[in-house]
Amino acid sequence: MAKYGRKDLGTGILHNHTDGGEGTAGYTLNEKQRKVRSIISKNQSAVTRAKISATLKGRKFSKSTLIKMKRSAVIRSASEIYRTMMSKAKKASMTTEVKKKISLGLKGKTKSETHREHLREAWKFRLRGEKRNEESKKHSKVAQQNYWSTVTRFQCPHCGKTVVERFYYKWHGENCKKNVR
Ligand SMILES: [Zn+2]
Repeated sequence: MAKYGRKDLGTGILHNHTDGGEGTAGYTLNEKQRKVRSIISKNQSAVTRAKISATLKGRKFSKSTLIKMKRSAVIRSASEIYRTMMSKAKKASMTTEVKKKISLGLKGKTKSETHREHLREAWKFRLRGEKRNEESKKHSKVAQQNYWSTVTRFQCPHCGKTVVERFYYKWHGENCKKNVR
């Protein structure tokens, strides 16, 4: 029966709610499922198209490339589905009350004014970020100087150099190149 299509899906002449079999196997998918399916098939067909065009050009994808492509198609599908769902959830959560609050907050400001303000904030944040970076650089420099001033140093009896402990044991003392053994 399925090959004749279904009238309620606009695919054919038959007018049944299922494909003719028992149960709900052929029942209409709800909107969300359909959306998910279409997204997945869209991304998969992109992979298929790429494969076909590569074959026509006489190129062959290696197995790892195919796996990579399939994986990225899956990731694309997943993120697209996620985005659609999130935007729907967002819309649903935008109750009239929330909308009212937002509109009160934006009262008296045009859209471009708010936009400009956002840009200003972003710019300020950037400046602060740069300043903070310089400050932290200075801090770490001072910390380093403090560290080196507390490190124990040894004077090598062979070459007379004063070096920190770990260098002393590695390059001086018994191991000094001026130490003739
Ligand atoms: Zn030495």
